[in-house]
Amino acid sequence: MQDLFGRSINYLRLSITDRCNLRCRYCMPADGVPPLGHDAILSYEELLRVARLAVQLGVRKIRVTGGEPLVRRGVVDFVAALCALPERPEVVLTTNGLLLADYAADLARVGLARVNVSLDTLRPERFREITRREGLERVLAGLAAAEQAGLAPLKLNMVPIRGVNEDEIIDFARLTLRHPWEVRFIEFMPFGQGLDYPADRRLPAPRILEELSRLGLLLPVSRVGNAGPARLYRYADSVGQIGVIPAISGHICSECNRLRLTADGRIRPCLLGDQEIDLRQLLRAGAGDEELCQALLGAVCAKPERHRLGDGGQVRNRRPMTGIGG
Ligand code: SAM
Ligand code: SF4
Repeated sequence: MQDLFGRSINYLRLSITDRCNLRCRYCMPADGVPPLGHDAILSYEELLRVARLAVQLGVRKIRVTGGEPLVRRGVVDFVAALCALPERPEVVLTTNGLLLADYAADLARVGLARVNVSLDTLRPERFREITRREGLERVLAGLAAAEQAGLAPLKLNMVPIRGVNEDEIIDFARLTLRHPWEVRFIEFMPFGQGLDYPADRRLPAPRILEELSRLGLLLPVSRVGNAGPARLYRYADSVGQIGVIPAISGHICSECNRLRLTADGRIRPCLLGDQEIDLRQLLRAGAGDEELCQALLGAVCAKPERHRLGDGGQVRNRRPMTGIGG
């Protein structure tokens, strides 16, 4: 699928639930978001149908996300079904890692290729402060289980926030000296809506790079294929890699290759724009495959050339990140 700006769209992100077992301050209010009713969420059959058609149209990679995808019952069978689609798309998953130790081996067995684990601190106290829950030990156990299961290379996502965890950037970078992991630093996107950290807490990518350089000379790593939005680096003696994702400050829109499906069945052409196309309504009104494919192609054509956020601006998305999946 090609969009109006010549970009090839071959990556689909599926949010399978809006629920989560953490309450990260930059993502969720303390009481959580009012959960979508059972009927509002797409069933696994509906998600699979959309995935199958998207793959027929050229999608080659599918990410399962949420909310926290591992809290939805039946997730292993769903991943198995995605992996078994005739075109054998690459299936990956993003998780906060809390339940990963329980699921890593089964997910690997059914064909999951890799996991991205989101972790913003290596300090138990701070973990409690950022996520409003306990669990650092379990996440670390999850990382070990994922490695053991061969879900490699492991990617770790950290969102550095000014005055919260920016002093741990070096600690996270140091992990790449011992582990063959890709440790990725994602620019904080201030989503507003009563969440805890305002826009001025965003650490722009150049500041993240400056901090990383304190550990040693950062050597750029050339990117192969569609490496996604991360700019890759390594230190002379590292076994892993560093990724920096300039989500807002960078000019990464020209490389965008993705569509997102929200847990309640809306296709979002752009993470940072509120336009959505209601697939759930079509699915439940008995639309045929042809009609659904037209809707998917319509979403591809609706992808904007780039996001319109002013530098340092608050993202005014109506939908919280938990419903979109990052
Ligand atoms: N619960 C899973 C997790 O945390 O990995 C998957 C969903 S979560 C919404 C996906 C990613 O979005 C996580 O890496 C999280 O850190 C990131 N995220 C959430 N809110 C964000 C924000 N305001 N700015 C930047 N990244 C954010
Ligand atoms: Fe949950 Fe992930 Fe959002 Fe944290 S970032 S509250 S783990 S969905």
